[in-house]
Amino acid sequence: MQASAASRLAALQAELPSSTRLLAVSKGHPAAAIRELAALGQTSFGESRLQEASAKQQALADLPRLDWHFIGHLQANKVRPVLRQFGWIHSVDSLALAQRAARIAGEEGVTPKLLLQLKLRPDPAKGGFAADDLRQAWPELQQLPAVQIVGLMTMAPLGLDLEQRRGLFQDCAALAHELELAELSMGMSGDWREAAQAGSTWVRIGSALFGPKPLSGPTWDAI
Ligand SMILES: *Cc1c(COP(=O)(O)O)cnc(C)c1O
Repeated sequence: MQASAASRLAALQAELPSSTRLLAVSKGHPAAAIRELAALGQTSFGESRLQEASAKQQALADLPRLDWHFIGHLQANKVRPVLRQFGWIHSVDSLALAQRAARIAGEEGVTPKLLLQLKLRPDPAKGGFAADDLRQAWPELQQLPAVQIVGLMTMAPLGLDLEQRRGLFQDCAALAHELELAELSMGMSGDWREAAQAGSTWVRIGSALFGPKPLSGPTWDAI
């Protein structure tokens, strides 16, 4: 018999250290799957595409305690709707994007929690701050009004083995410590144990929680 979402959630919760919270990455999964986990007490959900997320947020508007995290690449022209619909953004990958988020957050009267996305290893597929770029931008980032910069986020490039991922997570944790940032968003279905050991405060887990995707990426992309 296939494991249910309930048993996968219970198994993850049993294994996660108390300092690591579970972000259920629901991209590609329907609102009903989120509702099922919400009924089991899961409140934090991560989405990476605005339109897909909006449809589900509307369908789940009767669940007031859900806590939405935006984890996908954030285009400049989507910052305003994302700030209206998400309390957290894990994917702030440039100073210009953080400045824009601060200006629009002020206009919207919201105080979002932002995590800065780091690229500590070469990765043609992803954006993010290099460590030295972040150190250089840090004085300006700290001055931004309205937004709360609470942590760092990173993703391992394809092809790293688990030991290399462990090293990457440790480097990210060291930089968060240096900048006195409390939150660390690291670890996905394949490497959350290594990330949690390195001090991750948010593991972002999709397939290990929801199972394989019922809907392919292109289907959702077309919405
Ligand atoms: C999809 C996604 C995840 C979850 O990936 P799984 O391997 O399914 O756990 C985590 N983080 C980001 C940024 C994602 O886009």
